[in-house]
Amino acid sequence: MDLQSLVRPNIWALEPYSCARDEFKGMEAHVFLDANENPYNNPVNRYPDPLQEKLKHRLAPIKQVRPSQIFLGNGSDEAIDLVYRIFCTPGQDNVVAIAPTYGMYKVCADINNVEYRSVSLTANWQLDPQALLRATDANTKVIWICSPNNPTGNDFPRKVIHEVLTSFDGIVVIDEAYSDFSMQVPFRSMLDNYPNIIVLNTFSKAWASAAIRLGMAFASEDIIALFNKVKYPYNVNLLTQERACALIDDFATMDSWLVQIRRERDHVLPALGELSIVKEVFPSDANFVLVRVTDANRIYRYLVEHGIVVRNRHNVQLCANCLRITIGTRQENNELLGALRFFK
Ligand SMILES: *Cc1c(COP(=O)(O)O)cnc(C)c1O
Repeated sequence: MDLQSLVRPNIWALEPYSCARDEFKGMEAHVFLDANENPYNNPVNRYPDPLQEKLKHRLAPIKQVRPSQIFLGNGSDEAIDLVYRIFCTPGQDNVVAIAPTYGMYKVCADINNVEYRSVSLTANWQLDPQALLRATDANTKVIWICSPNNPTGNDFPRKVIHEVLTSFDGIVVIDEAYSDFSMQVPFRSMLDNYPNIIVLNTFSKAWASAAIRLGMAFASEDIIALFNKVKYPYNVNLLTQERACALIDDFATMDSWLVQIRRERDHVLPALGELSIVKEVFPSDANFVLVRVTDANRIYRYLVEHGIVVRNRHNVQLCANCLRITIGTRQENNELLGALRFFK
């Protein structure tokens, strides 16, 4: 893979902003008069570490990557947007994605004026690698694969994704926001085998921290260097960095939440399948389940009247009469199941 040929020429040539904390790398200083900060109100008076080194060093062993293979952003959404801004020339390049899938890939394409080509999954939510590859042309810079996929909930066989990775010369982004709920080997462990892969993870789902807005991208050092060049200098604030470090220190608690959610999923899926209004419960490798019901719009409104909000996916391609339901606590799940049993 020739990385330069995939990168927007203006980004390849970009001279990035150099902030005060980039220019001073020594360790001995104790008087900081270089960044026009206020000396009072410690610690939030100081600009945070622009490259979040401490947090990356804590994350690296957990994610089994090197710190230099990590980008951290203001949610995965920042990483998704950066992929367009780094690789896709507006009005010229295109990307290919599956349908249905996570909506932000298309929104960011539209914002960046990049053509978005989508290829339907098969009826049982499988991905046809040859169909994806046929949709590409000389101006295709990126293929998006979300696995486990949102909103369908299934992950794709590794073999199928490997086929895309080895047959396509551009960037393949694998969004593994839900991989902690799946039993498959995560793709971030294969960075050294694939120079064209970018893997996305997030603190928002399995790590129970959607409010701190922290997303991760894992890729080759060369690709991560491009992310660092284009991102806002202080894109992850101090409070988020500190909260994330504290969370990692309490990894055991996080892991117990994960076990609990998987156990609840095993309880909720069969229970949904027994309801007469449920036509189909699709298999889930995530912390949500897609179900096809008799009348999604009516059932959605009925649940709202009972104070329960699920995601109505009725208007999404191939998802007619489908609801996407997040796995909650035992009590929340039972409240949902109880309400559904009384729907007429
Ligand atoms: C929830 C989700 C994310 C997470 O986005 P953040 O901006 O990190 O909160 C990313 N990708 C998919 C497919 C998701 O469903």
